[in-house]
Amino acid sequence: MNSPVWPPYAHLKTQPPAPKVVGGSGAYFELESGERLLDATCSWWCMIHGYGHPRLVAAIREQAETLCHVMLGGLTHDPADRLARELVRITPDGLNHVFYSDSGSVGMEVAMKMALQYQVLTGQPKKRKMLSLMKAYHGDTTGCMAVCDPEEGMHSLFSSLLPQHHFAPSPTAPFNATQAQVAADLDVLGEVLERHHHDIAALLMEPLLQAAGGLNMTSPDYLRGARALCDAFNVVLIFDEVATGFGRTGKLFAADHAHVTPDIMVLSKGLTGGYLGHAATLATDRIHDAFIGDSAHHAFMHGPTFMGNPLACRVALESLAVFEEENYLGKIALLNRLLCRALLEDQALMAHPEVADVRVLGATAVIEAHSETALTGVATFAREQGVWLRPIGRWLYTMPAYITSEQQIAHITEVMKAWFLKSSSCLSG
Ligand SMILES: *Cc1c(COP(=O)(O)O)cnc(C)c1O
Repeated sequence: MNSPVWPPYAHLKTQPPAPKVVGGSGAYFELESGERLLDATCSWWCMIHGYGHPRLVAAIREQAETLCHVMLGGLTHDPADRLARELVRITPDGLNHVFYSDSGSVGMEVAMKMALQYQVLTGQPKKRKMLSLMKAYHGDTTGCMAVCDPEEGMHSLFSSLLPQHHFAPSPTAPFNATQAQVAADLDVLGEVLERHHHDIAALLMEPLLQAAGGLNMTSPDYLRGARALCDAFNVVLIFDEVATGFGRTGKLFAADHAHVTPDIMVLSKGLTGGYLGHAATLATDRIHDAFIGDSAHHAFMHGPTFMGNPLACRVALESLAVFEEENYLGKIALLNRLLCRALLEDQALMAHPEVADVRVLGATAVIEAHSETALTGVATFAREQGVWLRPIGRWLYTMPAYITSEQQIAHITEVMKAWFLKSSSCLSG
């Protein structure tokens, strides 16, 4: 009866058996039981076009008939080459080089290795640690665990295994913060750099939106200030846009809100529209050119088996074409207005004693509860109303697919609000 599949992030003793998904179309997926659930999370934020998108499915099918896979060691192919050119075109100016890998975590490992090796190659071998932020989440592999929030993060059990890096407090100024609020956050970041820059290779952050660590949002001015600090202290700036990339914050990339070019940027989740696992680590000429040289240490020793997989690259190209041709940034702007109206303008919700805060940025909305127990049972409650919600700790959030309709967004936000207000009178569908 029990499946041999070991589920993620699960307490095996209390985890209920997972329902089986048999298909999906648009913003919905279907269960074996016949239930259709409106996916408010777009499957860990990656299925930005929803399920069964005809163009994405056709792209994979066409590519499969030509070439499913070939190693990128010593070889290249059209989908890898074309996608790299497209990523250089759409990302902030100056990111001209693309290193492929197979997941967000590995994309971040690549970024950290690149930054450290860059410092060695440019005569700064003492700069070998990372500077990360509290509330950060950068993935579950060993290198990534070491730069996740060491206290609230879920990896404290492994602390003795992990390298010790530096951490700065997470930013507290909201998206629309005043200069003074942001200055206070930048002061504390600056202090850590002042004290430790001699051994810091890179500052890494999820720009504007610390996602898994509690949907903590901050101001574009924080990114500009971080850029200036990194320049002053010769620290590589890494933007982990695995979650924020491809429109989630309202612009194509979070960096675009600040007109900042990081030295290294990591993309995954939305890259392939969620249809295949893949990641890209982009670097500027300055980083890349430091690797051109005569010593054995100039080679970048990394190469995941599936890097540049033709199916993944081909579907990523199609995803991007749909994104641009169908004005997804316009769709995201509409979703943002709907989320703001439904949640931020609801006085009863904002005043509810269990609600600590409500935040909206781009196509992301979160109701932060005072305690995790305030959300016990919310997933079951939502499922009974036909919505798939999966809170993180005390954060009840939605990151819908960008094709989610106005009515479907209303359904999602009504369920989120009803959990707190317990008035089912407004529930539709
Ligand atoms: C999901 C996520 C990762 C890890 O990506 P995986 O593909 O799950 O390895 C890294 N960074 C951020 C910001 C993420 O949201």
